Parts: sequence; structure tokens; C-alpha cells
Amino acid sequence: MNKIFIWILRIVTAVILLQTLYFKFTAHPQSVEIFTRIGLEPYGRIGIGVLELIAAVLILIPATSGAGAMLAAGLMSGALFFHFTSLGIVVDGDSILFIYAVIVFVSSLILLFLHRNQLIAMISRIFKPGNLSSAVLIIFTFLFSNCTTAQNNKYMSDNQNKYYSKTDTSKITVSNDEWKKNLDEKVYNIAREKGTERAFTGQYWNHYEAGLYRCKACGNALFRSDGKFESSCGWPSFFEPITPQSVKYAEDKAYGMERVEVMCGRCDAHLGHIFDDGPPPTYKRYCINSVIIDFEKK
Ligand code: FE
Repeated sequence: MNKIFIWILRIVTAVILLQTLYFKFTAHPQSVEIFTRIGLEPYGRIGIGVLELIAAVLILIPATSGAGAMLAAGLMSGALFFHFTSLGIVVDGDSILFIYAVIVFVSSLILLFLHRNQLIAMISRIFKPGNLSSAVLIIFTFLFSNCTTAQNNKYMSDNQNKYYSKTDTSKITVSNDEWKKNLDEKVYNIAREKGTERAFTGQYWNHYEAGLYRCKACGNALFRSDGKFESSCGWPSFFEPITPQSVKYAEDKAYGMERVEVMCGRCDAHLGHIFDDGPPPTYKRYCINSVIIDFEKK
């Protein structure tokens, strides 16, 4: 009976881990959102996905279930930490990744407890006299991972954008050098150098949750999900901004085309272009880069 229970637990944990890694590999919006916030999109997402795959495989092999459960519990404690801090997405009924993380975390802890003898054996083998090299290797790996986390936290605090505000609506006119200090490279490229992300690669082209889209450079409220529509162009498409003053327009004759550029009404960041092939009632299509918008769930 106990054996059947352990097997059910192993299979449930592994299957849910495989589901969360499927979300990571297919760029599920919640997954992308979390990794964007912690500044590790896309490599962190893929890397964690690979670790989840390893954990799932280890859990399914009886001799390594304990190690797999330990890895899974570690990964999920990280995920839960992000969900519970300002870095994470809002925890509510829709947070499927949060629910998965809780299930995997709890079942991994149970598996860890059931396989405690396996782990004790593994630890004593690593740390037994004469096997100093593995112990040193493990301590170094641990120190290295801590350093990486610390580096990453430093990177994030250094990149705080002092012009971002959800409440201040006063106009911002500062030099590009100043923007460069406050925006990350990708956002700067779109906002100030009028770059364009590749079609179908952005975070929001197929994103239809209810909420608000803000300018990523300054926090200005630009579009609502009610004003967004499904377009096959590969970029988030809206038929109207929140207010006529949310955005402004300029003629764009770059690349031999005559287009109308859409900019943020507060900070003049380049957002995208406007075309006349949208749906009613406006018949306009605001074709916007995902990189320069931030989504705020309702
Ligand atoms: Fe802006």
C-alpha cells in the first residue's frame, strides 16, 4: 500500500513538473511575466525548465527519487517566493502556476521525507573522509549559485527606472542619455531608437487577460484590454487608447514608407504605428511593441 502511495506521489509530482516546464518552453504568459520581472527572460525561464525536466526524471527513478524531490522542492520554494513577493504575479484563482508550485512543493516535501534514508546515504557518501573533492565541489556550487543570485539582485536594483510612475501624469522631457540610465536595453531600443520587435515574439500579441497596459518607460496608462483585439499581425493590436491624450502621433517616413508613428503621451516613447485597417468603432489598428508596454491585471 505504501509502495502504491509513493508511486502515485512520484507520478503526480513528475507530471505537474512536466506541465510547468511545458508552460516555460511554450512561453505561457504568466511564466514569461514572472521571468521578465526578475530580469531572467528568456534564458532563466528555459534554464529553470531544464532543471524541472531533470527533477521530474530523477523523481521517477526509484533510486534517485530523493534527490529529484530535493531539487523540485528547491525550485518550487524559489517559485513560491516570487509569487509571494512584489516580484511575483498576483496570486488569485487564475494563477495556475502558483497552484502547480504549491502541489509540487508539498508532494516533494512528502517524497523527501519518505526517501530520507536515501538522502542520508547520499550525503554521507559525499562527505565521507577521502571523498573531499565532492564535498568541496558541492560547497563551491552552493557559493556560486548564491553569488549569481546576489549579482542578479544588484543588477535589478541598479536598473530602477526613476521616471516610472502610475500616479504622476506630468510630461517628461529628458535626454536620451538619461533614458539610457533608466531603461533596459530592449526597452530603450524601442522607446528612443524607434526599434521594432520581431512579429510573434512579444509577450502580449496573444494575451487577452482583462486589465490595463502602461508605458514601460514612464508608467502612463495607454490602453485597456477592452480596446484590444485579436489581429493576426504578430504584435499587440488595439483599436483605441484610454483617452485621446494617452498617446500622440507623428509622421514617419523611415524605410521608404509613409506611416503614422504612435508615441506615449507622457514621455514621447515610441510605441508602434497606427493603421486604418482596425475593427469598428474606430477602424484603427494601433500596432504596438510588447516590449514597451507593461500589463496590469484588473
Ligand atoms: Fe511613456
